Amino acid sequence: MKARMIAIDGPAASGKSTLAKNLASALGYLFFDTGVMYRAVTLAALKSDTPVEDEVAVTAIANVLDLDVQPPRTDDGRQCDVLMDGEDVTWEIRSPAVDENVSQVSMYPGVREAMTRRQREIGLRGAVVMVGRDIGTVVLPEADLKIYLDASVEARANRRYEESLGRGNSVNVDVILEGMRERDRLDSTRKLAPLRPADDAVILDSTKLSIDDVFKRALALAEDVRQQGEA
Ligand code: C5P
Repeated sequence: MKARMIAIDGPAASGKSTLAKNLASALGYLFFDTGVMYRAVTLAALKSDTPVEDEVAVTAIANVLDLDVQPPRTDDGRQCDVLMDGEDVTWEIRSPAVDENVSQVSMYPGVREAMTRRQREIGLRGAVVMVGRDIGTVVLPEADLKIYLDASVEARANRRYEESLGRGNSVNVDVILEGMRERDRLDSTRKLAPLRPADDAVILDSTKLSIDDVFKRALALAEDVRQQGEA
C-alpha cells in the first residue's frame, strides 16, 4: 500500500523541504511546507510594526491573513510562490528578521489553532507530503507515513550558510549557528505542539547521508508503508 498522507517533521535545515518536494514529485502528490504559514504571519506582524510580543494582535493577524501558496513561476531556486495579500513574499519570509521572530509567533495557541485548522483541511484530502514541526504529532496524527528528519546543528547551519551565499547574501556562519540553536530550543521546549518525533515516526539522520540517499529510503517507505517499523 502506498502512503497517501506523508508527514515530515524535523528541525530547521534538516533537508525536510527538499525531501518532501522530491517525494511529492515522484508520487504526484501535493508538497505543502507549513513553516511558510508561520513565517508569513511573522512577516505580516513585522511589516505592520506589530510587536511580536503582542499575542492578541499577532493572533488577530493570523486569523485574517490572506495567504496563498502556488507552484513556482520564477526559476530562482524557490520551491513555491508564497503570496501575501497578492504580493510575492517568497524570499522575504526567509529574511533574518523573520528567522529571529518566527519561533515566538508560532508559540501562540491562537496562531497555531488558525494554522493547524487550515493545514488539516488540506492534509485530509490526501495525496500530500506535509512538512513542519508537529505534522506527525498534531496536524495529521493519522498520516500513513511519518518521517522525522534530523541532522547535527553544525551541518544544518552550514547548509543555510551555503544557501544564503548562493543567493548573494553576505552572512556569518556563527550567527546562523547561534540563531539555529535558539530556534531549536524554542521550538522543542514550547508547551503546545513542540518539535519532537511522533512515537510511530521513522527517524532518518541526514548529517552523513546524501540528499539522494535520504530520498531513496523515504520513497521506499512511502511506496510500502508496511515497512515502517523495520526502518
Ligand atoms: O520550517 P521552517 O524553518 O520554515 O519553520 C519556521 C518556524 O515555523 C519554525 O522554527 C517553527 O517555529 C515554526 N513552525 C511550527 N510548526 C510547523 C512549522 C513551522 O511551529 N508545523
